[in-house]
Amino acid sequence: MEVVKYCHICGSSSFETHIVSKDFSVSKEDFTIVKCKGCNFHFTNPRPSVKELAKYYISDHYISHNNTSKNLFEKTYQLVRKITIRTKYNLVSDFFKSGRILDIGCGTGDFLHKCNKKNWKTKGIEPSAVARKQAVENHNLDVEESTDLRKLNGEFDIITMWHVLEHVTELNNTVSEIRKLLSADGKAIIAVPNLESFDSYYYKKFWAAYDLPIHLYHFSKTSITKLFEKHGFSLKKTKGMKFDSFYVSMLSEEHKTGNKNFLKSIIIGSISNFFGIFTKRGFSSTIYVFEKTK
Ligand SMILES: [Zn+2]
Repeated sequence: MEVVKYCHICGSSSFETHIVSKDFSVSKEDFTIVKCKGCNFHFTNPRPSVKELAKYYISDHYISHNNTSKNLFEKTYQLVRKITIRTKYNLVSDFFKSGRILDIGCGTGDFLHKCNKKNWKTKGIEPSAVARKQAVENHNLDVEESTDLRKLNGEFDIITMWHVLEHVTELNNTVSEIRKLLSADGKAIIAVPNLESFDSYYYKKFWAAYDLPIHLYHFSKTSITKLFEKHGFSLKKTKGMKFDSFYVSMLSEEHKTGNKNFLKSIIIGSISNFFGIFTKRGFSSTIYVFEKTK
């Protein structure tokens, strides 16, 4: 384990415990999330070292694309996946109709595949060998293994990270490298869970989006904006991810009761979306669009 001495955002060394929860999926070990007294940023502390992290990931767990969807859950999952990819692409095309796009943590490459079909020049980064193989074999994509952004060259109009930033060990370096890789009017599109959402508040230590210990950071709109501002970005736009609230509620119910409780998850997910639309709490997960400060 590695103890974080200074806040990743403001450098303060004064923290208090936010919550103690556990790794529900692999190790069942307890982990602590602290809150920085200087800037309110929440992060996992202590956290697994780079070497230790791998053992907390469920290996090779992917729903295959070739699987004929059999049950209702899988059918719904595939449908939501399709809609989500379309929503992500629509957001990208709000800014540029085509150009160069980099997806950090591209997984099996479904989103980049969509961009490819729309004449974007695409590049992906994916450390998982299984996912990378699928991206290359199924979609013929250009995907690199190395997560070292310094090795990339060229300028990108869009850089996306869909639920990836909360996993990176080098938080500040990642954001500053993203800035270097973006064109002058390029956009960084970053999706992360929102610690201030209703489902987070409701499920507390059972909230599935804490996903300990592989989520190293637990962002709010304020903290992620501070982080990007520190690296010369400003927040341009936010968009709630309305399906995530249901999915996260279902997993949280499972953590809490041992059962997915579909009906209850739909109710809690709906309340979360209601709060997302009508209050400052925000959605279960949010997409942030950052641009370089002029
Ligand atoms: Zn801080």
